Amino acid sequence: MADATTTATPAPRARVQQMKEYHPPLGSRDAMRLDFNENTLECSPRVRETLAQISAAALTRYPEREPVEAIVAAHLGLRAEQVALTNGVDEAIHVLFETFLEADDEILMPVPTYTMYEVYASVTDAHVVTVQTADDLQFPFERLMAAITPRTKVIAIANPNSPSGSVAARGQLLELARRAPQAVVLVDEAYFHFFGETVMDLVGALPNLVVARTFSKAYGLAGLRLGLLAGPAELMRWVRRVLSPYSVNSLALACLPPALEDTAYLDWYVSEVLAARAEFEAALDAAGVRHWPSRTNFVLVEVGAQHADFVRLMREAGVLVRDRSSDPGCDGRVRITIGTRAQMKQAVAPLNLAMAALRAEGRK
Ligand code: PMP
Repeated sequence: MADATTTATPAPRARVQQMKEYHPPLGSRDAMRLDFNENTLECSPRVRETLAQISAAALTRYPEREPVEAIVAAHLGLRAEQVALTNGVDEAIHVLFETFLEADDEILMPVPTYTMYEVYASVTDAHVVTVQTADDLQFPFERLMAAITPRTKVIAIANPNSPSGSVAARGQLLELARRAPQAVVLVDEAYFHFFGETVMDLVGALPNLVVARTFSKAYGLAGLRLGLLAGPAELMRWVRRVLSPYSVNSLALACLPPALEDTAYLDWYVSEVLAARAEFEAALDAAGVRHWPSRTNFVLVEVGAQHADFVRLMREAGVLVRDRSSDPGCDGRVRITIGTRAQMKQAVAPLNLAMAALRAEGRK
């Protein structure tokens, strides 16, 4: 006879059952990686040297994050208690939402935006309130201001935004923070280096402003999983209660100081990408492909109804790009990461071929 305790299966929380599945490709991406907005080349050689010097004995120790947090804080012009290192910005988002979102609170965000805000918000018991951007994909400032309620507890803004590449003005972010003093305003500056503008200097001056940065993009350390949250010490105290003290591993911690020091590498990579973006945008114009203005290391392009075929044709030609059609308001749009000039030159021929094939198909 079956025992009831052996036939029952554990059920997840109702919230988790309702969550959409998010499937980033975790298999082989052995091609030109223009799909995830990573650095498409390599990290600083100084980071590589540091990694090579890590001893077997060093790996036996738990990671020691505080000295590195102090270095990063000094680099940003902040105090150590205002900065927390995280296992990528993804962990920063997760922990921030777990720290501040209560049942029936509201989290407000413009859409389309970075997918993980909605993923982590939907694990909490808060309501996700989204403001759809218009077709120009510009930051919907007025409509966000109008959507603030006394229950708004977090406002999540990627600046620059993904997948649009558009930006919010500093004054707009300040006004949002002032209009919603009861809410944590998260400004996710994952693409800061390609944009150049920041609100990091306002950390501590505004009681509800929290800024995130990642080392996954310009620094080229996506595989190490390294991000940070910066905010007023009073808010960061709560965040640290939720954050694992060991979530940033010792290899990542060892690599962070040389990554910060090698400004020559960072400047070179960013200027290479910006030059490549201008050339690639010109190639898109020549091919008659609509694209949105970008302040980042990627461009959103309009492919139309055959978006899935386009992504497949590019993959067959050895170039990975990201279909964003299922993002709100992005039907028919594909995001293409900008790499080096040489890489983008190489990507233009398959792009032209794919567009020609799809147009010929469309005429049949
Ligand atoms: N924020 C934004 C806006 C992003 O686009 C990404 C990466 N795709 C992240 C955060 C995640 O960064 P990390 O790799 O540090 O988790």
